[in-house]
Amino acid sequence: MLVALAVALACSAAPRQALAATPMLPVHVVATTTDIKDLVQTIGGNQVAVESLAAPSQDPHTLELKPAQLLRLRGADLVVRIGLDHEPWLAKMRTDAPVVDLSRTVRLLQTDTPRLRAERQAHIHLFGNPHYWLDPENARPMALAISAALARLRPAEQAYFDTNQAAFLARLDAQLPVWKAALAPYAGTRVVVLHDSWTYFADRFGLSIVASAEPSPGIPPSPAELAALFARMRAAKVRLVIANPDSNGDLLRQLAAHGGAPAVTMVPSVGGDPAAGSYLSLIALNVARLAKALQ
Ligand SMILES: [Zn+2]
Repeated sequence: MLVALAVALACSAAPRQALAATPMLPVHVVATTTDIKDLVQTIGGNQVAVESLAAPSQDPHTLELKPAQLLRLRGADLVVRIGLDHEPWLAKMRTDAPVVDLSRTVRLLQTDTPRLRAERQAHIHLFGNPHYWLDPENARPMALAISAALARLRPAEQAYFDTNQAAFLARLDAQLPVWKAALAPYAGTRVVVLHDSWTYFADRFGLSIVASAEPSPGIPPSPAELAALFARMRAAKVRLVIANPDSNGDLLRQLAAHGGAPAVTMVPSVGGDPAAGSYLSLIALNVARLAKALQ
């Protein structure tokens, strides 16, 4: 809708140009995920019109862009992406806009994931684990990179972006000790994840991930792998299985019945749950769900 508005403004502004100074159009930012979109909106404020290509419940790895999205991507002023192999389709897309790859701003984990042939459109964490936004400490370098990119496009608004960024980081700094305190009693708790989405979150909050149910990211376990996982879960006294909203319910029931650990559904992206409407509320929701499940 914001894009439609921007286009409408662009069309209506032209004839008036001679009469009055044209109001600056917002910077049109295309983000690949809702998490990035929220950070761009928070820092860019009224200077940006931002959209996410992936919906919150969509796996960005296998996203197929609609023609209208392709057009907006082509006409964007700025593209901000997760990077690594999170948006494999982006390499084939045409855009003249500068592209900010946020994976360059953070310390990556699991960069030694074995190289697998991508026989299908599975996402397999080929270049390291791309789910780094789920460590709230990583929001800091991500916000700095977004703010710098916006300031390059709108130098006159640098102070505005700086102010918004500082306000965001202040809220983040206020929340971090609260989240850490909420999960501190459960440090070292052994968990199993369905997909390796929670590596950075676990690293930040001291959870020990014993295994991922997927033998390789994006690949479902075979019956033999599942049997081995049940045994490993019982031996390691795994307390909890961390599922995503789209996780297979049958698999979760089997893990509970044979592996001895109930599941908690955590939310990997902004908008994936009504209570996760912003980046900070996304992290808060996941901390709260985990603390409640471990109580
Ligand atoms: Zn993944």
